[in-house]
Amino acid sequence: MGKHRPNHRRVKTHRNYSVEEIARLFGIHKNTVHNWIKDGLSPIDNKRPLLILGSHLAEFIKTRREKSKSPCQPGELYCLRCRAPRTVAENMADYSPDTETTGNLIALCSECGTIMNRRVNLSKINDIRGEIDISFPEDLQHIVNS
Ligand SMILES: [Zn+2]
Repeated sequence: MGKHRPNHRRVKTHRNYSVEEIARLFGIHKNTVHNWIKDGLSPIDNKRPLLILGSHLAEFIKTRREKSKSPCQPGELYCLRCRAPRTVAENMADYSPDTETTGNLIALCSECGTIMNRRVNLSKINDIRGEIDISFPEDLQHIVNS
């Protein structure tokens, strides 16, 4: 994350890009591109210079942009008042279901006490809950505990 938000639409999907060309295309440092490669942007092969297929590059950037929309770490919710991800007061949150598989985590900001919400998928709740002690409605207890 940072102020650079590379746009995948600038990538020509049918050509190959070297690390230098990617850096130039998005106005970023070559090291950033090398970090992307470590993060899963796969080159065509191991020959130098490394070449990356445009379609892989576009896909990688698109996925990253989608991920960066949710900057919260496990155990954090986004506080609209602080305008930042915050840990929750007392490490306690309530889960309020919308559908069978999705709902909202509701907790108080540990910094300012404002109510925070985070939309969650029930199947992924263990990835994001961190240390939070979540209260579930009674009819969901059996799903969560199993
Ligand atoms: Zn806050």
